[in-house]
Amino acid sequence: MTTSTPMIDYHVHLSDDLTLEDAVALAAERKMKFGIVEHPGPDFKIKTDDDLQDYMTTLRRFPVFVGVQPMHIHWAPLFSPDLIAQLDYVLMDADTIPLGEGQWLSIWRHDNFIEDMGAFMERYMQHIVHILTYEPIHIFARPTYLPINFARHYDELWTPERMHTIIDLARARNIALEIAENVRVPSMEFIKLAKAAGIKFTFGTNARNHNAGNLHYCLEMVEACGLTADDMFILPGE
Ligand SMILES: [Zn+2]
Repeated sequence: MTTSTPMIDYHVHLSDDLTLEDAVALAAERKMKFGIVEHPGPDFKIKTDDDLQDYMTTLRRFPVFVGVQPMHIHWAPLFSPDLIAQLDYVLMDADTIPLGEGQWLSIWRHDNFIEDMGAFMERYMQHIVHILTYEPIHIFARPTYLPINFARHYDELWTPERMHTIIDLARARNIALEIAENVRVPSMEFIKLAKAAGIKFTFGTNARNHNAGNLHYCLEMVEACGLTADDMFILPGE
């Protein structure tokens, strides 16, 4: 017997438009649970172990899951492993690609001009492989997301070989794949392949406002790909 998918948005950011209290009320109103993520690292709010501890202590008083969303690879050594282990999960995407010498390419920015699609894909895949192989991660967010100027080439760029590379690495470390509401990735084809390989999924809106928990694409994919509770990510200990 299959049961319907648990309604959890694991990718919610707090902001002035969505305070912790707002998020808790909204989740209750939507009969959902939210996972809150904050960015750790020197350029972000959570810079030190004390910051991370305060963040967890504050959120633990509320019925939310507590996660972080590192933007940059190699963030973890900045924090004590014991503290990182107390988080419910680490969610990370591959949208901030290291270019060397402290430079990064943020592929979601609309003002990027990336000339060579082939060279880009090679670098992007290397970055994805690094994250899925070495970074501490439970949920791979925005999988297969492409810079806006390549988006129309999605089906041609995400070859079976590239899709299988991601799926095999995720499966090897039990990394769940996010179905990303706002950017509508990954594709139905990718989700079906991943499901067949035994991959687990999460829903994520990446919302910083009352769009949190607003799932359309995610539920469309549940329907189209026949996802059930068995296909969904379960937090260790849940
Ligand atoms: Zn995010």
